[in-house]
Amino acid sequence: MEIMNHFEKAKMMAELTATTPTVKVICFDMDGTLADLYAVPNWLEQLRAYNASPYINALPMCDMELLAELLHKAMAQGIEVRIITWLSKETNREYDEMVRMAKRVWLDYFNIPYDHFHGIAYGTTKANCVRNAIDWQNGETAILFDDNAKVRNGWHMGQAYDPAECDICEILREIVGE
Ligand SMILES: [Mg+2]
Repeated sequence: MEIMNHFEKAKMMAELTATTPTVKVICFDMDGTLADLYAVPNWLEQLRAYNASPYINALPMCDMELLAELLHKAMAQGIEVRIITWLSKETNREYDEMVRMAKRVWLDYFNIPYDHFHGIAYGTTKANCVRNAIDWQNGETAILFDDNAKVRNGWHMGQAYDPAECDICEILREIVGE
């Protein structure tokens, strides 16, 4: 038998106990998902020059006021919110810290609440950040919003959504029961 991934196990346990899998953690990518980094003029040149300002200057990609409101509701229901974002491909210890800071400033500016911020090395497996935070035996899953198809395909903790093909706030509304 093939080894089942987390999402498959959670679904199986939910089926066995006649319940539905529950979303325990909501995870967000930032660049290209919440923050329009790639629309910032010369973003790549600036990142390559160890300049973190494009992360601050990126425009939001959805209604941030509504997003913040829905996330507060989700958190009040015991759902965890995590930001899981890759740092720049261009990396050194000091710049990595600057990038983390810039990303957190951006989130704070829009009052986006979260329980955990994972600013991880470019290309790192995002599922590693939540693997131990969810209990598949109780049908718990972690969903992810991420514009990177490869990241979504490697998720396996729960549903992975392409922000270009869904309305993030609509999905959150359903989760919080609105
Ligand atoms: Mg992205």
